[in-house]
Amino acid sequence: MTKEYTTAGEEQTEALGVRLGQLIQPGAVIAYTGDLGAGKTAFTRGLARGLGIPDRVTSPTFTIVNEYEGGRLPLFHFDMYRLGSSDELFDIGWEDYLARGGVCAVEWSENVDDALDEDAIRVDIRRGAQDDQRVISVTNVPDLAADE
Ligand code: ADP
Ligand code: MG
Repeated sequence: MTKEYTTAGEEQTEALGVRLGQLIQPGAVIAYTGDLGAGKTAFTRGLARGLGIPDRVTSPTFTIVNEYEGGRLPLFHFDMYRLGSSDELFDIGWEDYLARGGVCAVEWSENVDDALDEDAIRVDIRRGAQDDQRVISVTNVPDLAADE
């Protein structure tokens, strides 16, 4: 199932992330696509909040992966912007992260696509007509806009 949402402003994108964080299952992988400044980190900030993680999520660009504990599930936030291939992802222990029963959220997943399973949750974020508008398509999860 693919669902499409339009958000007006960062807060609404975070709110979608919150919703996903509330229902996401252990071992899930979120594969983001979308340009620099699309809102991948904003969405992940909401995801962390939805998982009940107390820390504020920042971009892992220089560290490749940031780990967050203290929520319902651990969150591993990857930024693959600088990776040339999935080999490097395996080198930093991708399979160990998968085995830890947390949530792996992967920015620039297009750089490591062959490491990702069919059942990954795909989150694609595109700019809309207005500056603060984003069109966000999400696969493989229940409707994030539905009531509880
Ligand atoms: P990415 O991780 O995809 O590079 P960020 O989440 O770091 O992007 O940054 C998104 C930027 O776009 C922020 O400066 C944010 O304020 C701005 N923005 C404007 N409208 C939106 C929106 N609807 N959703 C998310 N971010 C938005
Ligand atoms: Mg980012």
